[in-house]
Formats: sequence, C-alpha cells, structure tokens
Amino acid sequence: MDSVRVLIIEDEVKLARFVELELRYEGYDVTVVHNGREGLETFLSGKFDLILLDLMLPGLNGIEICRRIRKTSDVPIIMLTAKDEVMDKVSGLDSGADDYLTKPFAIEELLARMRVALKHSIKKEDEKNIITVGNFTVDADKRIVKVDSDIIDLTKKEFELLLYLVRNKNIVLSREQILNSVWGYTYMGETNVVDVYVRYLRSKLDEVYDIKYIHTVRGVGYIVKDEED
Ligand code: CA
Repeated sequence: MDSVRVLIIEDEVKLARFVELELRYEGYDVTVVHNGREGLETFLSGKFDLILLDLMLPGLNGIEICRRIRKTSDVPIIMLTAKDEVMDKVSGLDSGADDYLTKPFAIEELLARMRVALKHSIKKEDEKNIITVGNFTVDADKRIVKVDSDIIDLTKKEFELLLYLVRNKNIVLSREQILNSVWGYTYMGETNVVDVYVRYLRSKLDEVYDIKYIHTVRGVGYIVKDEED
C-alpha cells in the first residue's frame, strides 16, 4: 500500500519540523508548507489523504483554507490551534474540519487523532459504493442486493444490470445504453435481452415486494426512481 500523504500547513517552523519528522518516522509521506495561501495552492495542485492545518497563518487563515478545501474535497482535516485560540474551535469545526487539537499536544495524541480521521474517511469512501433506492440497497463491492434485511439472490448479469440502473437512478436509460454498458459493444445476441433481464429482476424484486422499482419508459427504455409514483 502507498504511504498516506499528509500536508502540514503550519507557520511555526520548529513545530512543523518536529511533526514532520515524527510522521515520517511513522511511515507517512509528508509535505510541509509555512504559509496559508501556499498551503491551499499545494493542496489544490497535489493529492493528499489528510491535512494538519494551523489556525493562525500568514497569507490565509486556517478557517478560510478549510472552507475553500471543503468546496471540492472531503479530505480529513485536523486543525491545530494555540491555547488562546480555543474559542475558535466552533468556527473551525463549522468550516468543515474533522477534528482539532490544541497546542502544545503530545505526538501520540496527534497520531491517534489522525488514525481516527483516516478511518472515517475510508469508511466514507466505502459507503459511496453502497447505493440505496427506497428500501433496497446495492452493495457494489460485496455484490449484495438487499431489500430491508433480505438478501436477494441474483445472477451475475442480473446484478450488473441492477447496479447500472441504480448507479444512474432517476435517469432514463435507453435499451441501447443499457445494452452497451452492461453487455458491452461486442454483444451480438438478441436485442431484447435487456427486456428479458428487466423481467427477471422484476420477478425477484418488484413482484416479491410489491413495489415498482424498475419503471418502463415507453419507446425509450427504463428508469429506477428514488420514489414510487
Ligand atoms: Ca500559527
């Protein structure tokens, strides 16, 4: 596995250097910037897994950096604040920081907070691969489809078709789009294969649970909607 990339934005050079060395020792890949504006630019032009962000910085303060990062990224951010800046805890978290730590801190404390923040961020990523439509969920990684707590037994193709439909939920998909995406451009079989498989899915989902999940759009194709009509 690649090292976790940490960006430290901290104008206290000594503190930044100390944290940098400790993190490197722990196996992190560390980049240090001492100025707020430069810090934001470094973040925007690179790829980082976690940010340690000082509050009071020359150039651009931590709150503002945090706000701007949050416009485009969910990267975990731990704010570092001086003791007399504790009042800013609220605005720090309001601006989108995941956690904050008051200086001076023990390095073990920082490492522990970092591990928690990273774990949360991995979990968030994982959750993105679970798509929910009404009371059914499709777990793209585990390839499991559930209605409430019932696991629905689907064949490989049925699963792929359903996954494609729910990933594009609320969008009308033509038969051709579905065919190309699920069966591939090289598919030479029957063109009504999409209808056949939609019927299979309906017999396992809609008919069993008496809910209309997969809607037919006449003359076009199909749509999975978040809400029933
Ligand atoms: Ca500072």
